[in-house]
Amino acid sequence: MTDWKTKAATLYDGSFRPMVIGGQWVAAQSEEVIEARNPADGTLLATVPRGSKADIDKAVAAARKAFDGPWSKWTPFERQNLLLKIAEKFEAEWETLCLSDTLDMGMPIQRTLGNSRRVLGMLRYYAGQAVAVHGATIPNSFPGEIYSQTVREPVGVVGAIIPWNAPIAGSIWKIGPALATGCTVVLKPSEEASLTVLLIAKLMEEAGLPEGVLNIVTGHGAEAGAALAEHPGVDKIVFTGSTATGQAIARAGTVNLKRVSLELGGKSPVIVCRDADIEKAVPVAAMSVFANSGQICIAGSRLFVAREIHDEFTRRVAEFAANLRIGHGIDADTDIGPIISARQADRIAGYLAAGPNEGAEVLTGGTRAEGEDLSGGHFFHPTVFGGVNDDMSIAREEIFGPVISAMPFDDLDEVVTRANATPYGLAAGIFTTHLGTAHKLAHRIKAGSVWVNMYHAIDPAVPFGGMKMSGYGREGGAEHVEEYLETKAIWINAD
Ligand code: NAD
Repeated sequence: MTDWKTKAATLYDGSFRPMVIGGQWVAAQSEEVIEARNPADGTLLATVPRGSKADIDKAVAAARKAFDGPWSKWTPFERQNLLLKIAEKFEAEWETLCLSDTLDMGMPIQRTLGNSRRVLGMLRYYAGQAVAVHGATIPNSFPGEIYSQTVREPVGVVGAIIPWNAPIAGSIWKIGPALATGCTVVLKPSEEASLTVLLIAKLMEEAGLPEGVLNIVTGHGAEAGAALAEHPGVDKIVFTGSTATGQAIARAGTVNLKRVSLELGGKSPVIVCRDADIEKAVPVAAMSVFANSGQICIAGSRLFVAREIHDEFTRRVAEFAANLRIGHGIDADTDIGPIISARQADRIAGYLAAGPNEGAEVLTGGTRAEGEDLSGGHFFHPTVFGGVNDDMSIAREEIFGPVISAMPFDDLDEVVTRANATPYGLAAGIFTTHLGTAHKLAHRIKAGSVWVNMYHAIDPAVPFGGMKMSGYGREGGAEHVEEYLETKAIWINAD
């Protein structure tokens, strides 16, 4: 069994980690740096460049040069082969990648390791997609005289911006389809969690990725991120993050009418019907929020429970929550790791105070978790609020922390209306043993993913994304690759 603490000591030693632009591993032109600290104990892991507009300009130029240059000559089969080699490389280095994420952003190591099937599957899925792109021959009004066909072309230079809560999967979700379609990428990871993305770029380089195809610029959102979003040399922006930033990015993209796809926030409903299998539903409903300490976009943070079983169900969710183990992500038995930053922790603490102030009852948790071993980071007890009504801030706003707001409901029409009464539309969970109820609710809930008697399932082959203010565009599935392609119609006069 891997000794994670010993392995961790050899991975990061506080030294400077450069970013990659045009195949060169470089500092920021300003030479300024950002500290990367372990959120569990505050240890300095490394410093990374504080990239800004000047670095983004260089990276976009490198990506354009690669796009117009040799990369454009790579055949789909060559790109497929490269993606398969990258997948092999990742498989061999999987523990190191996971450890890096756990150290840099706090996710419990068991959870990062558990992502392997999905991430390796994603790379292999995109490898398959690389050779599946094709246009069509289309009959027109001049049969035999004029031929019309479509071809699919890569959209060009893609600017990718990701949040801190799942750097491995988040970056592969952007890079994979770009490589499959022949695009090039400038990726800006979150200033809170850049280290694994730099490692990923290194592994891809070792697997044979040509220079300039993937450029990483580390830095702050308002500096490097904003410069990338508005850069006229970028053809498409793919963004995952908060809804407010997504709106800013969509506005910035109007400069050159970039293609934009947005995976944003959520306030997802979990609906537990009175005929639900309570035994099975309790842990799933709880972990729909508490996984990754609630720092998940799809968190099922509004728990609607049929009034007949509401008290028993919420009591059992609260008991389950109270038994989760809080600790450093690197401890193999940790369920609830640290919150990424003091800023995010203060935000969560604000909602924990707002809940009781607005009249909610604390069924469990409600406070920061303290203890000698936790003193260097920001930890919270998983919290379940009862007595919540739809107007409270804890029922309306995305908390991005380990907090469930539980509410009773009386009938299905009512719960559908209330579940949909949110600007968001990312995900939903339904627990019922009645097939008809499952169908009815799944069709009526306005969300990009609806899970019945389960939660959290995400697969390379199945589209994922938001409705309403949870964004637009899909990642995963055949639709995903479409987002990186343009369609060109070609007409040929046979005369
Ligand atoms: P955020 O929007 O603050 O930051 C996300 C990224 O955008 C970071 O890299 C940041 O540096 C960059 N950024 C910030 N301001 C920018 C600007 N003006 N221009 C360009 N880039 C800018 O989000 P966060 O706090 O890092 O992540 C949490 C949010 O992300 C939550 O709302 C969560 O729901 C959402 N999220 C959504 C998904 C999804 O797939 N739908 C997945 C994970 C997280």
